[in-house]
Amino acid sequence: MRHNSSRHNINAIFGDVRVVRSKQRSRHILVTGGAGFLGSHLCERLLKAGQTVICLDNFSTGLERNIRHLRNFERFSVIKHDVVDPIDVEVDEIYNLACPASPPHYQADPVHTMKTCVFGALNLLELAARTGARIFQASTSEVYGDPLVHPQVEGYWGNVNSFGPRSCYDEGKRSAETLFFDFHKQHHVEIKIARIFNTYGPNMRPDDGRVVSNFVVQALKGQDITIYGDGSQTRSFCFVNDLIDGFQQLMATDPSFTGPVNLGNPGEFTVLELAEQVIKLTGSRSKTIRKPLPTDDPRQRRPDISLAQRELGWQPKVSLLAGLEKTIFYFDRLLTEEAVELAETA
Ligand code: NAD
Ligand code: UDP
Repeated sequence: MRHNSSRHNINAIFGDVRVVRSKQRSRHILVTGGAGFLGSHLCERLLKAGQTVICLDNFSTGLERNIRHLRNFERFSVIKHDVVDPIDVEVDEIYNLACPASPPHYQADPVHTMKTCVFGALNLLELAARTGARIFQASTSEVYGDPLVHPQVEGYWGNVNSFGPRSCYDEGKRSAETLFFDFHKQHHVEIKIARIFNTYGPNMRPDDGRVVSNFVVQALKGQDITIYGDGSQTRSFCFVNDLIDGFQQLMATDPSFTGPVNLGNPGEFTVLELAEQVIKLTGSRSKTIRKPLPTDDPRQRRPDISLAQRELGWQPKVSLLAGLEKTIFYFDRLLTEEAVELAETA
């Protein structure tokens, strides 16, 4: 595998990215955002399936801890790189997941978020055009904005503010979809676009800021649970393992199927219902408190997954209850380990 470090200032963290390609039977797969929540699960899944994985990440929200255990695979390598800058490696497939997904994180540097979405997509599509790699885009339910059609079907064009606090992400992801389709039409790049709905599970950061990790961490620490607005807004929560199944099933479809396809769990809950479930499952004494509803916070969200069911044969299997139990177990262990480390260094 070629790795042009001088031209693109790529910094290999560990692993040898110059694996000889000719003798490999496994596919060479680039996962951008591979140290993040979803990316780390995807890297693990691909490695266990026998593939050779290059994880590319700028470590802005991703964590070395999420991929530490993958070092044991010889077929795994990591490159520290920002997708805003071009990248040149020899690959058979690309999964483009690089982008902060949590509102506080993507709003912290909105210009860089937009660059990540647009320049990132452009750079990776150019790589796909050059190498002939099939390319997957982690798009989002945010392309529907604050939806006026419910549940959301792929044919719905959305209700999106072009200059609000969420726009850097929403419009960035919409532009990325446009680029994907234009590269497909103009340069015959094989594309697969997944519109991901709220997904949760192990490997989220405790300070990620999204609702499930916030509530679980607050409940475990006995802190107040922060309900934004009156908590009547709804979301549909998908457990990470189900989502990664969907990624793989989408990537394995016939080249004629491009998506966009919704991937998410159609179970719909209010934010208050989620808080109640988390309090019950953790046995926490935390109380709920109200905080202002963020600007442009979507009122309701639920995927119509008929297209995924039909074209991918995919539907989620893990209930909210079962997924929350696994997530609580993860954060409980993580917070205990952090507390022990803190005590040891004190
Ligand atoms: P995350 O923040 O945990 O992971 C994002 C990863 O991308 C991190 O490792 C981060 O360091 C890396 N990254 C960010 N900007 C980068 C850049 N410019 N160059 C290189 N690396 C960069 O978020 P996640 O939940 O794992 O989301 C992964 C992808 O899925 C994102 O593209 C997100 O938009 C999309 N998505 C996620 C959800 C969800 O519910 N988790 C929903 C919709 C879409
Ligand atoms: N939310 C909340 N408390 C929190 C974090 C989020 O009430 O501590 C709400 C937020 O206002 C939104 C929903 O939970 O209505 C989902 O928020 P998240 O940031 O997880 O994702 P998104 O809004 O992007 O779907």
